[in-house]
Amino acid sequence: MIKAMPVSNPSPPTTSAAASACWKRELAEAVRDPIELCRLLDLDQTLAGPAAVAGSSFPLLVPRGFIARMKPGDPTDPLLLQVLPRVEECEEIVGFSADPLAEQQARRAGGLIQKYAGRALLLLTGGCAVNCRYCFRREFPYAASGATPAGLQAALRELAADPSIHEVILSGGDPLLFDDRQLDQLVVALGAIPHVRRLRIHSRLPVVLPSRVTEDLTALLAASRLAVSLVIHANHAAELDSTVAEGLARLTAGVPLRFNQAVLLRGVNDDAAVLAALSERLIDLGVAPYYLHLLDPVRGAAAFAVSEARGRELLDQLRRRLPGYAVPRLARELPGEPSKVWIA
Ligand code: SF4
Repeated sequence: MIKAMPVSNPSPPTTSAAASACWKRELAEAVRDPIELCRLLDLDQTLAGPAAVAGSSFPLLVPRGFIARMKPGDPTDPLLLQVLPRVEECEEIVGFSADPLAEQQARRAGGLIQKYAGRALLLLTGGCAVNCRYCFRREFPYAASGATPAGLQAALRELAADPSIHEVILSGGDPLLFDDRQLDQLVVALGAIPHVRRLRIHSRLPVVLPSRVTEDLTALLAASRLAVSLVIHANHAAELDSTVAEGLARLTAGVPLRFNQAVLLRGVNDDAAVLAALSERLIDLGVAPYYLHLLDPVRGAAAFAVSEARGRELLDQLRRRLPGYAVPRLARELPGEPSKVWIA
């Protein structure tokens, strides 16, 4: 029987409290208004109107530190394209749906989703620090799917009762939106389940909000008996500036295994030189390129789609440019399959 996670008490003011306040303030100050984003980047304000309409159900959200990595005056900047709502999002395209991976059918208790043997996803929150326009969970009903405090307790009970699950994957939304105290309680609770041996964290925060990588985060992960790995999410080398490098360096002691997953996105990274630069930058930062996903056909994201044939061509070109360990797997997820499908 697993104990319920305790309720957090306020922390005394310390250096770690200051670090926590820093990332929370940066998150609160993230840009949500297309007019402001256009002004900050010296872009034509006529882009803002369609962005406001297209973003009415899945709004613009982007931290200022991520905006600082974009090229002013360039409406085709690959980082901007990932976050600025476009009018094409409103078009209904055959084959693009609200739940392209049929995740609702894979739900277990609370925020627990199991698609593959031996491992399960634990959804902690629907919140993110950035709203990526191609996100396959952009219409995911998080609250109704158990990504709530009560849902978390139900998920922990379910995990404790199922000895076949050896790896828990924290997902969302972004699980690093849980603060260090909440995460510490969760990691301790997972560590108390004897058959859970590994913890994987999927997060875009080390890239888009690197101040989230606090010393306390590293310490709490290093203290766990679980083998911890981190999968970050970057699609272009320009996302990986010195602030990201510093955050990843802070994390080294707590998370020796770091991987990246990217999505192959038209106009962003569908080019061999761009993908090679991403892989080389990741390797320099101690992160293994892991997956290059074909776009999941979620409603609103069709403008980013790249064909499987083009993906194969790009992988072939990457193999000619890079050592094998720097070439990601080209993969796609298909509902009902027992694993991701490796394409190249
Ligand atoms: S950070 Fe991840 S979960 Fe959040 S919007 Fe982007 S792709 Fe989706």
